[in-house]
Amino acid sequence: MMNYSLKCLRVFAPRCHPSRLASSSSQGMCFELSDEQLEYQNLARKFTREEIIPNAAYYDKTGEFPWDIVNKAFDVGCINTSIPSEYGGPGLGVFGCSLIAAELAYGCSGVQLVLEGNTLTASPIIIGGTEEQKKEYLGRLTSERVFMSYAVTEPGAGSDVSGIKTRAEKKGDEYVLNGSKMWITNSGVAESFFVLTRTAEDPKTSAGKAFTAFMVDAKTPGLTVGRKEDNMGQRTSDTRGITFEDAVVPKENVLGGEGNGFKLAMKAFDRTRPIVAAAATGVAKRALDESVKYSLQRKTMGVFIAEHQAVSQMLANMAIDVEAATLLMLRAAQGTDDGILAPYDASIAKAYAADAAMRCSTDAVQIFGGNGYNKEYPVEKLMRDAKIYQIYEGTAQIQRLIIAREILMKAKMMNQ
Ligand SMILES: Cc1cc2nc3c(=O)[nH]c(=O)nc-3n(C[C@H](O)[C@H](O)[C@H](O)COP(=O)(O)OP(=O)(O)OC[C@H]3O[C@@H](n4cnc5c(N)ncnc54)[C@H](O)[C@@H]3O)c2cc1C
Repeated sequence: MMNYSLKCLRVFAPRCHPSRLASSSSQGMCFELSDEQLEYQNLARKFTREEIIPNAAYYDKTGEFPWDIVNKAFDVGCINTSIPSEYGGPGLGVFGCSLIAAELAYGCSGVQLVLEGNTLTASPIIIGGTEEQKKEYLGRLTSERVFMSYAVTEPGAGSDVSGIKTRAEKKGDEYVLNGSKMWITNSGVAESFFVLTRTAEDPKTSAGKAFTAFMVDAKTPGLTVGRKEDNMGQRTSDTRGITFEDAVVPKENVLGGEGNGFKLAMKAFDRTRPIVAAAATGVAKRALDESVKYSLQRKTMGVFIAEHQAVSQMLANMAIDVEAATLLMLRAAQGTDDGILAPYDASIAKAYAADAAMRCSTDAVQIFGGNGYNKEYPVEKLMRDAKIYQIYEGTAQIQRLIIAREILMKAKMMNQ
């Protein structure tokens, strides 16, 4: 018996015949999307086909920020989808956001990352913000065309979040921030930042008490945003470093209470990892679709390459990856929406989907042969874009650390 009620699992395939359903009861597993879910999935799919796919190569080549697409995304509602209705958003939940992320990333995962940046930053506000903070920041995200960034990583600390050195020192009713952040998505366009700092002076203070999170206005004197990084993939997205030199932040901007920043940042990942897994699944699916299409057009030795068993086996392996990644990310997303915040499920989904995107896009380049290595064809971009999924929001190795920790903890409890 599964401990969650999964409404639907099949994202990409057409609605399946009822005879294929494991159970049509709302208590068990159902492989169909609801009408409402289909509606916003179709909206995102149409937006991807019309606005993202035709422009993806341009933004990849130039590295420009995709303002045209972003403005249209604001118009149709393909951004800020996690924000609850009280604050002007559609309040889709992680499952709904994942459906949309998979569609957008199918078109261009760089554009999808740009659109997703606000969801990552909104997560700690939704989880730990006061009512005033939610009204202010979430309200601003939905009423204005603005971006907010999530600034945790530093030049010396990415995987080791508890090793961050940016300090916030309390002085009266204010905090003074000093330090630097690195690899912050959308930071060149952000008007505010979620910033994780160290507030405990004693190095022995536990991570659960040593860090404090703030919302920091980008215009704060002493805050400087660096140059845009020249990245391998997802090139339209805007990644920069930030420095804080005696940047003064009022105490009202503490998010989640002093000392609770680390827990807040980690809980945000539980909500966003299924969405990142969904985006990776979208890239894997695009690689499969492009490969199927090409292998039915390209002939060698008198037959379409799809008829060579070695090629068709690659296609089959890609399909297995896409289907498995889809199921895992939707299970993690549904679990999160059901209130079963499970780092285990989120990490398995994220790790698997990231590896699937990398495998599928690498095989797609292989199937395209020399053309696969060339920018006139779409698959080399997929391969460059896919790699980051094994790095950000917790590397492939860190996901496995989390998964192993959970398995071993359970085993130890059962042995007691
Ligand atoms: C394009 C891009 C966008 C990003 N966006 C953001 C953002 O918006 N906000 C933000 O805060 N961060 C962001 N990041 C940062 C990202 O989350 C980190 O790069 C990532 O967590 C890895 O940290 P690191 O780069 O310091 O690598 P390191 O932590 O130095 O890791 C280096 C290698 O060592 C391995 N490793 C490290 N520790 C262990 C361990 N204990 N066990 C096994 N292996 C280990 C890693 O898996 C990796 O292979 C972004 C990064 C990029 C490249």
